[in-house]
Amino acid sequence: MGVTKRIDSHINIQAEIQVLANRLRLVIGSVISESQTAFVKDRQILDGILIANEAVDEARKTKKELLLFKVDFEKAYDSVDWSYLDAVMGRMSFPVLWRKWIKECICTASASVLVNGSPTEEFRLQRDGVDGLGGRWFGEGVVRKVGDGTESYFWTDPWLGWTPLCARFDRLFDLVVNKSSTVAEMCSLGWDTGGEAWVWQRHLWAWEEEMLGECQVLLHDFILQAQLSDTWIWRLDPVSGYSVRGVYQLLTSHPSDPLDDVLDLIWHKQVPLKVSIFAWRLLRDRLPTKTNLATRGIITSEAQACVAGCGGMETAQHLFIACSIFGSLWSSVRSWIGFSSVDPHNLTDHFLQFTFSSGGLSVRRSFLQLTWLVCVWVIWNERNQRLFRNSEQSLPQLLDKVKLYSYWWLKTTNINLVSNYHSWWTSHFTCLGMV
Ligand SMILES: [Zn+2]
Repeated sequence: MGVTKRIDSHINIQAEIQVLANRLRLVIGSVISESQTAFVKDRQILDGILIANEAVDEARKTKKELLLFKVDFEKAYDSVDWSYLDAVMGRMSFPVLWRKWIKECICTASASVLVNGSPTEEFRLQRDGVDGLGGRWFGEGVVRKVGDGTESYFWTDPWLGWTPLCARFDRLFDLVVNKSSTVAEMCSLGWDTGGEAWVWQRHLWAWEEEMLGECQVLLHDFILQAQLSDTWIWRLDPVSGYSVRGVYQLLTSHPSDPLDDVLDLIWHKQVPLKVSIFAWRLLRDRLPTKTNLATRGIITSEAQACVAGCGGMETAQHLFIACSIFGSLWSSVRSWIGFSSVDPHNLTDHFLQFTFSSGGLSVRRSFLQLTWLVCVWVIWNERNQRLFRNSEQSLPQLLDKVKLYSYWWLKTTNINLVSNYHSWWTSHFTCLGMV
């Protein structure tokens, strides 16, 4: 069902944007998934409501119990990764000129808010700097190999080294008038000192000029190759291309924010999508834990006690690590796998440490990564069972669940895992061919 937040703002739609929208309308039905019912020709935003109505009717007629809940999505504008949108359009074979138009719409969009029916002055729409899911390490792993420069964006593609110029010279990017020039356009206008490629919204300050000088030094030795077209290359292994192994090297070698690394770890091809999404919410502290519910005023602050009866408050950190009941699952799991360590205090470090604790083979790491995801899933489900069903399982039973789920998840996608469940139970590393 397509649900969109009603934004009480009046977006200044220019005639060109209308032209683009009309054109996009011709193909949009074939590129947007069927479950999205809003804003697409021949689909109605009301479809969702009709379906909901039918469901209620059906339940009434058959006297079934029914629970309805309505969700409202966060404002999309702040959390969409626009460069990802651009990459998707690229993969769907939208031409570069089209992508450029769309980029311009995004970069130059302005809005004003209706206050008591009268619009305020227009302001530029700006992102909160929230990066979208996934894309980051992938974005860092690919670079643009420029041939004739007609298919590469000067500012936003990583074509001169690994960092796009818009990040390396962010100040200049803020000030440049045309943010979507291609490399070829900039080159032909002239990007040396005094070249016409540089058009700014205002005069540059001395330190900004210095920055521009630095940029020009980088550009100095660059030569376009008119006979070649631009391509993407996977920089870790330009010859054989993208590999999981290369990604692990990338993840373990670069010193960026651990949360970014760990958010990439939640996507594991043998883990059900719902579990990855659950882990994403967990690591961003967006699960409806009792303390989160109390913060939002949904439950009272007296009702935050951990369901295990340990006396602690139910924060995510408590429930999944510090709790004397739930948290002790980790040491049981470690002794099943055959390593020992202390539990790091926060969830991000915990996930990273657990996954990389064995070092060595990537297949081992992949297994540990999966196991961590199984564990948090089992803990959360047990918490919900205790809270809503009043039923309780013992620690050994929870450990059995961890073994069972990890076996199932690996078995459904891993044809090499031919061993039986019994040998998995006692010696999983042997089963995975890791000993
Ligand atoms: Zn507890």
